Amino acid sequence: MKNYSYIHIFNCLNCAKEKCTKTKQKTPAKYCSRICVGIASRKTKEEKFQTKKITYEKNVIRKEGCWDWKGALNYKGYAVLAHGIKAYRLSWEIHNEPIPEGMHVLHKCDNRKCTNPDHLFLGTNADNLADMQKKGRRASKLKEAQVKQIKILLKENDFSYTKIAQKFGVGRKCISAIHQEKTWKHVKLCP
Ligand SMILES: [Zn+2]
Ligand SMILES: [Zn+2]
Repeated sequence: MKNYSYIHIFNCLNCAKEKCTKTKQKTPAKYCSRICVGIASRKTKEEKFQTKKITYEKNVIRKEGCWDWKGALNYKGYAVLAHGIKAYRLSWEIHNEPIPEGMHVLHKCDNRKCTNPDHLFLGTNADNLADMQKKGRRASKLKEAQVKQIKILLKENDFSYTKIAQKFGVGRKCISAIHQEKTWKHVKLCP
């Protein structure tokens, strides 16, 4: 039995027609049909950019402050036009200029749906990582002092991940990530 978990309403990146699909993918496809895939493959970069722009205009809601987005979101909650095409990156190219090779477009606001160019800035890979960590910490339920306590408990090795997770009201994975230094690496215990 086919188990489709996502329903997407999206605009084809070739013909801009609206299409509804059921898929296992968390983000919609780029094209409505094989014919459109074929036509798109013969389009120039500039022609592709123009159709993306049409789709972008259909989905963006310009307003004061953060702009809204009617279109699809990816699994992290960022506005996308289709699988792998991030709307905020496109917005940068529409309102500013092409993004230099290897550069990231980052949000000044914490709104992943927002594509207002005034709320975006260009950054390097290092800027991107620092930004993600900063935002990750802000979203984290734990405070630095609690992480220290968790690290002490992990060092003493008396309690399981599950027990510690229960005590701090977080998931077991969160504790194992701290233990493996995937998160909160900067919090050190006194020697
Ligand atoms: Zn199409
Ligand atoms: Zn914003």
